Amino acid sequence: MSTGSLPRIPRPLRAVALTALLLTGLAGCDDKTDDAKSAEGKAPSAVASASSSTPASAAPKPSTSPANDGSLKGKVVVIDPGHNIHNQDHPTEINQQVEMGNGRKECDTTGTATNSGYAEATFSLDVAHRIRRILQAQGATVTLTHDGDRPYGPCVDERAEIGNRAHADAAVSVHADGAPAGDRGFHVILPAPLKNGQVDTTPIVGPSRALGERIAGDFVRVTGSAPSNYVGKGTGLDVRDDLGGLNLSKVPKVFIECGNMRDPDDAAQLTDDAWREKAAQGIANGISDFLHG
Ligand code: ZN
Repeated sequence: MSTGSLPRIPRPLRAVALTALLLTGLAGCDDKTDDAKSAEGKAPSAVASASSSTPASAAPKPSTSPANDGSLKGKVVVIDPGHNIHNQDHPTEINQQVEMGNGRKECDTTGTATNSGYAEATFSLDVAHRIRRILQAQGATVTLTHDGDRPYGPCVDERAEIGNRAHADAAVSVHADGAPAGDRGFHVILPAPLKNGQVDTTPIVGPSRALGERIAGDFVRVTGSAPSNYVGKGTGLDVRDDLGGLNLSKVPKVFIECGNMRDPDDAAQLTDDAWREKAAQGIANGISDFLHG
């Protein structure tokens, strides 16, 4: 599936392209980890308790799958599938610099892939489709920032702008990480307080944290995955100011790194259909919980 989704690359070059993709996974990923900016000391009770050895029973608010009762009617959700499988064919375009609120950064990146070649972009779009299906069944209006139908991107500033223009009640960017093997688990990235000219994340910092805490708690409960063992000090939460998709957002927004594609055990989950359905359900439950207040 993954090699088959490398368009316009002559067959002999596919292995080279794929190797390049893998080798640049971490460095080339906009959402590369940065433990230095983690939310140390701010473990939310829901996530902290959910990360115990018996997450399902320890959870203070066990999450059931919300009924398809139309209760999210009128709510707008923007799901941002990280990267774009076609980015690798457009290095010049995706390397162009865009404003990210406190500096400039590449328009977009290729993302990472598992060692077997399952691309992060394929993963993120698949999970985004599943989240959309679940939330639409509850009555929400769901917009994707792209559907794999663009030649590249969108750029990170446009990804944020799509959420802003939609006046989204919640926006979530879906990713999987490219960290060394042995680094395992998911983490949710929250926007840092940032005021710089027209850019001001302070109104969304609080609600984004609430959104992120709900998603992290529900992700643990539904998937059984533990929070990251390499970012966030076991809380499953990180705070960063180097992501244009968060810095430029005017609506509550978080990123989720669903697991580490370069770890064999995490990769076995990320490449599994049934696990991706659970991941999507966990994220959707978190969004739904947040929107229900
Ligand atoms: Zn990513």
